[in-house]
Amino acid sequence: MTLLPIHLLGSPILRERAAEIPEVTNDIRRLVDDLFATMRADGGVGLAANQVGIAKRVAVVDTTGNDPLVLINPVVLETTGKQVDEEGCLSIPELYADVTRAQRVVVEITRLDGERVRLEAEDFKARAIQHEIDHLDGVLFVDRLSPLKRRMLLKKWQKMRKGSVGYLKEVATPAE
Ligand code: ZN
Repeated sequence: MTLLPIHLLGSPILRERAAEIPEVTNDIRRLVDDLFATMRADGGVGLAANQVGIAKRVAVVDTTGNDPLVLINPVVLETTGKQVDEEGCLSIPELYADVTRAQRVVVEITRLDGERVRLEAEDFKARAIQHEIDHLDGVLFVDRLSPLKRRMLLKKWQKMRKGSVGYLKEVATPAE
């Protein structure tokens, strides 16, 4: 497994609509392993391929540390209810804001074995799935804030980024 550098807000690939995956190949399986490893090393609960510079429709989610979920070519079939909670993103480290999401989602995904299945999730897991599918469409959680809140957050981001060069964050193996 390889830890991949994470693209930060400002990197154009985060704004791209990722491409459908025609077939689950060994390269995709390897990418999924790397996504999980990178997500865990950086302390996240989800990571989409375009966050590591690969504009393909695959993302991983694990909200409990023991519930790994692979989303390949995910499509939202149904959303119900509403939840508001604090959200962050590995591509926008240290910034958080309340984001409104559906409370429950039904999605259709391709599994690693190539089978297309339906999946239902609620609450925090549903939030993580919606966040990752947004990534694959080039959408970030800051886009879901009110214009005022978004401006405030982006201002903070620019302050934090002052003097930084480029939009890549190296991810290191956490110390045991
Ligand atoms: Zn994110």
